[in-house]
Amino acid sequence: MLAIGSHLSSGKGYYAMGETALSIGADTFQFFTRNPRGSRAKAVDPQDTERLRELMKEHGFPCILAHAPYTMNPCSAGEDTRRFARETMADDLVRMEYTPGQLYNFHPGSHTGQGVEKGIGQITAQLNEVLRPEQTTTVLLETMAGKGSEVGSRFEELRAILDGVHLQEKMGVCLDTCHVHDAGYDIVNDLDGVLEEFDRVIGLSRLKAIHINDSQNPRGSHKDRHACIGKGHIGLEAFRRIVTHPALAQLPFYLETPNELDGYREEIALLRGMAEGNCNHEIAFDHFAEVDYD
Ligand code: FE
Ligand code: FE
Ligand code: ZN
Repeated sequence: MLAIGSHLSSGKGYYAMGETALSIGADTFQFFTRNPRGSRAKAVDPQDTERLRELMKEHGFPCILAHAPYTMNPCSAGEDTRRFARETMADDLVRMEYTPGQLYNFHPGSHTGQGVEKGIGQITAQLNEVLRPEQTTTVLLETMAGKGSEVGSRFEELRAILDGVHLQEKMGVCLDTCHVHDAGYDIVNDLDGVLEEFDRVIGLSRLKAIHINDSQNPRGSHKDRHACIGKGHIGLEAFRRIVTHPALAQLPFYLETPNELDGYREEIALLRGMAEGNCNHEIAFDHFAEVDYD
């Protein structure tokens, strides 16, 4: 069965996220480790995480995915920003051990004019400083859209980061469908080709999670504006191929579409239907109003 969930608010704690996930038909979820604007994190309540772990075991959740704050930029030209990124990631990884064996995703960052190569060096330097041999968390680099000076919109850049990390076995990649599409990879007409390229450059064994989002913009736009599933330029047919692709179907999927819980519930049902091969397209198209490309 497809493992799928959505991004959820962590405001009411860990167990509440598990319950919310179940209430929308999900068996996993993503959450921010702290305010996405990047302030201080609330202390973890060990009883709360313990209750979540029990719920996950009882309901067969695969990995849950923690997302680092967007303000974390390991390859900023500013030393203060880089220090904040280091301290935030180090602290997040300590907190992650309250839920052992899960996934932690972060944006490689924006080099802010320093150049990609220098940026990659700073990202690997941070990872080598904060990763610990005893940690049970797998840290994921997210594929990026290539907005501004973002690092990580080319598979080669992610490979270069991974190559610089000493504790290789602690690292993986999270593929964001909106981001790779916006970066120029043709997952609509040539999913096989894109995954072959991913395998050749990075290795599919590194792929640990999928952010499943449609895109408001055409391929190669470098914009990073998510759309609801089937309402953007990626489209329903491509998502059917994505959730049924043998290289992807076993991975956990996380929705980051512009939705409230009801919308997530509907998208989860739609994608589960597609994965089980009994998607009724008339219902699907009816349900998701006409695409409006402005
Ligand atoms: Fe992200
Ligand atoms: Fe994402
Ligand atoms: Zn995005």
